[in-house]
Amino acid sequence: MTATAGEKPRPAPTAGEKPRPAPTPDADSAPYWSAAHEGRLVVQRCDSCGHHQLYGRALCISCGGDVSWVDASGRGSVASWTVIRQNYARPFRDWIPYVVALVDLDEGPRVMTNIVGCDPEEVSIGMKVVARFEPVSEEAGIALFEPAP
Ligand SMILES: [Zn+2]
Repeated sequence: MTATAGEKPRPAPTAGEKPRPAPTPDADSAPYWSAAHEGRLVVQRCDSCGHHQLYGRALCISCGGDVSWVDASGRGSVASWTVIRQNYARPFRDWIPYVVALVDLDEGPRVMTNIVGCDPEEVSIGMKVVARFEPVSEEAGIALFEPAP
């Protein structure tokens, strides 16, 4: 997408004219949204036991230890999915049919996301996917997943 002089480039939605809703980052989630804005997928890793978790929390849910944000591979597999064929709210109505999926990251955490870059009928459980990113505000991006090459 190109921008004319004096006009900020607008985040490119997957389809349609209205951009995706943007999150409101807070202390626990800001590192995630900021990394996604930079095109990186991050998860939290426990400094004590090595457990990976997402969404961001103050402490490890496995042992209560301190956690750090680390880069993830951006790879995962589809655990479950559905095709949305009716949604009258914008911008979603411009995208139907679209896929909402649960993706198990290779690091362990399960995330809810969209599968893009393929026909909805091509999505299957166990399908290998890789993250791609869309900026949705000045400070946040979101991770979508597409079939792994
Ligand atoms: Zn831990």
